[in-house]
Amino acid sequence: MEEAQVLLQKYYGYAEFRPGQAEIVNALLQGKDIVAIMPTGAGKSLCFQLPALMLPGTTVVISPLISLMKDQVDTLYGLGISATYINSSLTAAQVNERMYNARQGRYKLLYVAPERLESEQFQEAVEVLDIAMLAIDEAHCISQWGHDFRPSYRAIGPFIRRFAKRPVVGAFTATATDNVKKDIISLLSLKTPQTYFTGFDRPNLSFTVVRGENKQDFVLNYVTVNHNNSGIIYAATRKEVENIYGLLRKHGYAVGKYHAGMSDDERKRNQEAFIYDDSKIMVATNAFGMGIDKSDVRYVIHYNMPKNMEAYYQEAGRGGRDGEPSHCILLFGHQDIMMQKYLIEQSVVDSDRKAGEYAKLQSMVDYCHFTGCLRHYILNYFGEKTTEKECGNCSNCNDTNELTDITIEAQKVFSCVLRVNQRFGGALVAEVLKGSKSKKVLQLGFDSLTVYGIMKENTLQEIKDLINRLIASGYLSLTESEYPVVQLTEQGVAVLKNQAKVWQKVAPKPQKTVNDNALFGELRILRKQIADRENVPPYMIFADSTLKEMSEQFPVTRQAMRLIKGVGETKLERYGNEFIAAIETFMLEHKVEAPRAVDPSPDSFDAEQAVKVLAEKKKTDEEPSHLITLQLLKDGRTLEQIAAERQLKLLTIQEHLMRCGREGFELDWSVLIPVRYEALILSKINELGSDKLKALKEALPEEVDYVSIKATIAKYGKKTE
Ligand code: ADP
Ligand code: ZN
Repeated sequence: MEEAQVLLQKYYGYAEFRPGQAEIVNALLQGKDIVAIMPTGAGKSLCFQLPALMLPGTTVVISPLISLMKDQVDTLYGLGISATYINSSLTAAQVNERMYNARQGRYKLLYVAPERLESEQFQEAVEVLDIAMLAIDEAHCISQWGHDFRPSYRAIGPFIRRFAKRPVVGAFTATATDNVKKDIISLLSLKTPQTYFTGFDRPNLSFTVVRGENKQDFVLNYVTVNHNNSGIIYAATRKEVENIYGLLRKHGYAVGKYHAGMSDDERKRNQEAFIYDDSKIMVATNAFGMGIDKSDVRYVIHYNMPKNMEAYYQEAGRGGRDGEPSHCILLFGHQDIMMQKYLIEQSVVDSDRKAGEYAKLQSMVDYCHFTGCLRHYILNYFGEKTTEKECGNCSNCNDTNELTDITIEAQKVFSCVLRVNQRFGGALVAEVLKGSKSKKVLQLGFDSLTVYGIMKENTLQEIKDLINRLIASGYLSLTESEYPVVQLTEQGVAVLKNQAKVWQKVAPKPQKTVNDNALFGELRILRKQIADRENVPPYMIFADSTLKEMSEQFPVTRQAMRLIKGVGETKLERYGNEFIAAIETFMLEHKVEAPRAVDPSPDSFDAEQAVKVLAEKKKTDEEPSHLITLQLLKDGRTLEQIAAERQLKLLTIQEHLMRCGREGFELDWSVLIPVRYEALILSKINELGSDKLKALKEALPEEVDYVSIKATIAKYGKKTE
């Protein structure tokens, strides 16, 4: 096993195995068949790639999706491991060439689609190869019990049985019930296999449910805070996808969309832009995600509640495949339940199946209202026992938001609902409370009600949001009719009678998934440049976690670089120097001293130096505010966006930039000084002097503001004095 450990470091740059990996690698090396059930992102690939490196001959990997094969082979190339694939995307000549190379023993791994195994020609070609191991990815596809049965997987069993010298077989999957597992073992004719099950938990994913909030506001706030990260926003309908897409575009975000109403070509373009980080946000229906292996998706927001927990966990699970922290956020609104019920009614005829779908939907709704640990709810749903009390990484476990008493506002809403005889929808109730002069309100004579205008100091949207929140928390209910009517529940009646109070929690503030710093931003830019040059997705160059570690450790020697997690020998060779150069430049520009190489022996400990290094490091961690502003500007944000994001005044942001300019940082002055007035402002400064701000303002056209004048002085400061 020592050799495996060495190769883990050498090729992958990882110091330790993840749970289950060492055991599986070991078993395969000893020639024992295995079934491994490990959740997405747990690290299944390494379990067969590492033994493939160590065994003589070639390992054949059977994998269902053509798009993923290329991805895997590209990843292996990045690690310095020779591999190739054979599938229907290749010409006959290409297949022949690759088979020839395979016979020469040039590949450690050969990826094939299961259909290929049925070809007599391929079978014969394989028989002359030295096949050491067979790895079956997504092994659940062999079973009809699973959710994506593929008939072609049934060819694998006969294929294995034909070998004169049978290779060791490893079957890998993320989902397997007992029935599926039995199918895998019998249909593949596995020999007394050892089964490894590492549980369904994905500890790096955090789970959040947001109830009854304004969804658009939430999404906008969230993407502002997380604009550097890739994320998926799932919505239930094409129309909703188009709406959110339009909204984000309007706010200047690079965003893609994906739904079944688009042409194949358009879908492909949007998908690729997302994978290659040209657009950071993907808004999509559940049609998106199959066959996507983008590993650095940092958040998955569900704009609508999905139809069941299976769908939810699968879609949310597309976040964080690289094992790094990622957010899974579900925005629950009461209308979502009605939409799902409608879809069941539309699509399911069989009454037993319908009852089953309704039961699953109910579990999904229960999740949205659950007050205990959300992770435990999910794991229990999938039949896993949980022992600890709390996970500490879900919105219920981490709930520290203070409660506010909103009884009085709620009572206003409730009495309005009663005054309109519980016969109208939320929009009209809100209009009455706001004191709207809309035609409908006046026609119905609601302007003479005592509740008319009693919430006029709120915006209409705020009142609507409040009503939605009261519905989501069960004080009000909606009838299930074409035009849903708001009614008071018993719980609401109790509040009106002053028997109970209504408490409201402030929605959780959007958190950043990655705590980035300025160097991290620079390294990301470099990574994107290299990725474009090599025509691979950026996450294949280095994972976020690797860049993060670089931005904290400042590795400027090859030895130091090698110690960063995720830097194996091949990547060190290929990209090491470029990253070292970028880090050195950053340190020079920001006057960061190199942390002296730490010698592990205690004799050499230099306390004075350590204090200095720590102080320097602290300084760079707490980067001066004006430099953060400059970085955001360089990242392509507008001044208004920066102000909103940092919750600072626009003027403060402008002052920050002027300071950067005065300190000699490179700055695009045109964001402060309108280009067409610059010459004029400058000539007035030369005429009147730079200390006469008021006179300058008066001597210049109206539209030239103080900021432009001050900025011009800052830009040309030395010359005018
Ligand atoms: P799966 O196929 O189970 O979904 P992958 O094999 O794609 O997962 O691995 C997920 C991520 O975890 C990859 O980025 C991989 O490099 C990383 N990984 C795997 N094993 C380790 C390990 N021992 N230490 C650190 N990272 C690992
Ligand atoms: Zn929890």
